[in-house]
Amino acid sequence: MLDRKKVLEKLKDAKPWDMVVIGGGATGLGIAVDAAHRGYRVVLLEKNDFAKGTSSKSTKLVHGGVRYLAQGNFKLVVEALRERGFLLKNAPHLTKVQYFVIPVYSRFYQWFYGLGLLLYELLAGKLSLGKTKILGKQATLDRLPGIRQKGLKGGILYADGQFDDARMAITLALTATTQGALVINYFPVTKLLKNDGKIVGVEGRDELTGDHYAIPTRVVINATGVFADRVLSMDQPNTTPLVMPSQGVHLVVHESVFPARDALMIPKTKDGRVLFAVPWQDAVVIGTTDTRLDQITDEPAALEKEIQFILDQFNRYREKPIGRSDIQSVFAGLRPLVYTAGLANTAKASRDHTILQSDSGLISIVGGKWTTYRKMAQDVVDLAAQKFGLPAVKCRTKHLKLHGTSKNSLLEQLITENPHLAKRIHPDYPYTEAEVVWAVRYEMALHIEDILARRSRLLVINARAALAAAPRVAALMARELENGQQWEQQQLEAFHQLAKTWLAA
Ligand SMILES: Cc1cc2nc3c(=O)[nH]c(=O)nc-3n(C[C@H](O)[C@H](O)[C@H](O)COP(=O)(O)OP(=O)(O)OC[C@H]3O[C@@H](n4cnc5c(N)ncnc54)[C@H](O)[C@@H]3O)c2cc1C
Repeated sequence: MLDRKKVLEKLKDAKPWDMVVIGGGATGLGIAVDAAHRGYRVVLLEKNDFAKGTSSKSTKLVHGGVRYLAQGNFKLVVEALRERGFLLKNAPHLTKVQYFVIPVYSRFYQWFYGLGLLLYELLAGKLSLGKTKILGKQATLDRLPGIRQKGLKGGILYADGQFDDARMAITLALTATTQGALVINYFPVTKLLKNDGKIVGVEGRDELTGDHYAIPTRVVINATGVFADRVLSMDQPNTTPLVMPSQGVHLVVHESVFPARDALMIPKTKDGRVLFAVPWQDAVVIGTTDTRLDQITDEPAALEKEIQFILDQFNRYREKPIGRSDIQSVFAGLRPLVYTAGLANTAKASRDHTILQSDSGLISIVGGKWTTYRKMAQDVVDLAAQKFGLPAVKCRTKHLKLHGTSKNSLLEQLITENPHLAKRIHPDYPYTEAEVVWAVRYEMALHIEDILARRSRLLVINARAALAAAPRVAALMARELENGQQWEQQQLEAFHQLAKTWLAA
């Protein structure tokens, strides 16, 4: 259970912690799980909600990265395929095998991609998720209804993984807590505390009360994704940038628009990237783009040209084009790519992770993928333990089952005791009122957005449905949190502002 009051109480402990992790996305949460599992005393501080940043805006693939194979980055692909295998075993309740089909319009490309994907399967070794197969024209049409028929020669079928990114983040927060870590959201780190030029703690603020806390620690890890340079500049002004932000946008359409069980993989878009259309939670997620940005915010919004690009690229493969009115939701995320001087096209930037050690002792980690979060955590905790003389304990997360399998039975119990909570928050989607109550009580949900964007995924699947459900969610939350009507009103206004940026029209 995530219990904010308890965490705040324990944060007053004056005994130095072993490690403070700044950032509650995939990277930071993975580090907290690993470090706590080794027995270190760990605190994780997140300025917004867990996974509010990039970690809830992914394509939701647990994958080796077919694209990186094409780029010849075998090391990254092999590592990610291994991690894919571990994640599917350790979090079966949040992951699944997803089959993909690449439609091909030339025999050469059928063999070219076929061989590449055979290699992809072989590189996964014992952790392979399924066989790569060459498909004939009819089999391809059966698997990808509505696909452009003219010139179609066939397809290639291959297996990869899929997951629920934000739910995985909450699961990691719960796992870290079970292992003894303190994790808290809405708690920005505002300052690094130093003694003789060396970091000895951080200062953070509870966003709910405005109270400041000084938190002493031996190690500070900067796992703030695209915000890593801001934390670095708290340490040392005018440092060379570590991150090169690149925006990726997804469109979400109703499953009836593309009623396929398999995902479509477009191997080469106009800008030389790949594009996916993946069935996910009764909808289809289509993306993504790769747009270099100079400015970063907590609320990145899709650019008009990115929406049009995705529609155009998807429609190239369609018998009947889709349009803006088909879009139920649009979301944008920022890749924390490792800065490469002189690189104009972020699509070519490395997807590996990098660890930087500053003279003050600050350790920063950026880059990587959701799929490789566990290995990233292992690398950074190994380094921190060695550098700061923490007791030598081996990483043991490869086979650590993640929290969450018991959630449903307890949720059922909540419904049995309060049958009225079985009601849905929106008639077309399965999320119940009990889940709202649950998330407030046990998953640190504090705002409507936390419920609609990340504890449930309604905003991601259908922004209009999320807007329709918001008043009921606000009322349920207000009762649980003992907040009045004014709070409800403010929450609704804030959510309306946010949801507007998730609507395409
Ligand atoms: C469009 C797109 C698609 C992707 N698709 C996939 C995919 O399908 N599969 C895959 O494996 N990977 C995918 N990725 C990559 C993956 O999502 C990222 O690598 C990963 O989520 C990065 O996690 P992070 O924790 O480093 O960053 P974030 O999730 O951004 O977390 C950093 C956190 O730090 C917090 N923070 C910042 N400053 C402070 C502060 N001062 N105090 C406290 N907290 C602070 C932020 O609020 C944020 O929550 C995709 C990325 C994008 C952008």
